[in-house]
Amino acid sequence: MQYTLYPYQLKFRYPFHISHGLRTHTDVVFIKIEHEGFVGWGEATLPPYLRETRQSVIDFLSLPEVKNITLPVHPPDIFKMLDEKFPGNMSAKAALDMALWNLKSQMEQKSIGELLEIQSDKSPLCTYTIGLCSFDEMKRKVEEANAIGFKLFKIKLDGKQDEEMISDFRKLTNKPFAVDVNQGWKDVKEALTKIKWLSAEGCMLIEQPLVKDALEEMKEVKSDSLLPVFADESCQQLSDLEKVKESFHGVNIKLMKCGGVSQAVEMILQAKKYELKVLVGCMSESSVGCSAAANLAPLADYVDLDGPYLIANDPFEGMKVEEGKVKLSPLVQKHPLS
Ligand code: MG
Repeated sequence: MQYTLYPYQLKFRYPFHISHGLRTHTDVVFIKIEHEGFVGWGEATLPPYLRETRQSVIDFLSLPEVKNITLPVHPPDIFKMLDEKFPGNMSAKAALDMALWNLKSQMEQKSIGELLEIQSDKSPLCTYTIGLCSFDEMKRKVEEANAIGFKLFKIKLDGKQDEEMISDFRKLTNKPFAVDVNQGWKDVKEALTKIKWLSAEGCMLIEQPLVKDALEEMKEVKSDSLLPVFADESCQQLSDLEKVKESFHGVNIKLMKCGGVSQAVEMILQAKKYELKVLVGCMSESSVGCSAAANLAPLADYVDLDGPYLIANDPFEGMKVEEGKVKLSPLVQKHPLS
């Protein structure tokens, strides 16, 4: 298989501040696979909490087992082969998997969704993320999101400035919102009190209220919560669904956590069997990762694929948000990578 790796750094338009800390950029490795004149792109986006690095991704994607892949392939077979031999490295696997799907979609002149036989005419609203910020910064973000056509927001909370964030937001818009606490609330009591208040403010769902291992406490939150509670940090890959299914109403499925499109589809189907709601999210990927994930939107109850709108130097163009929903568009490289 002929391919090239491009280390890169995605810069946020605004510093991205959440309860874990502040980030101005995210390290990335793009992979370009070339075959019979067709090109497939993939992306490993590496926020520090995932513990993969550009070097670990490059090392993984330089393994003989990757170099020796003979095209064309059925991407799920490659994921399975690599995952059996080399556990972990999910972002690296995701980059390879989405590049193989992207290549296949061009060779067969069908979208990834069509190849997966996903009905493509329905899609839930996509959220626009607002990190912890001042009123003035929030005002600019809400105005920008409204101009693009976003109809639903996702507000990051940290347990320290929750009231100000929501009160600022409500001064700016009456649109509905989701909340992502990123493990920032300390216990069941705080979670239930704040969920009751947020439900009265027009909040639709709560993501990751408590630390990721607090699964017993989350069972209590789930049983008394007025809003659906979703696992993000608590649920990384397919095998985690079993252990979180009693503690949450839904799960945030991301290509970078689960190993790519092939696994995300499996995970969505399994989540539905467990009667879990599905949010298809991202790690603020560029248009490469978000376009791949956008193919799964029709299978989701909620979508959070705003990555390209949060990044200042996306080298690609692809999926768009129109009338608040993700709309597929062919992936185009705008700027050369070196
Ligand atoms: Mg989250």
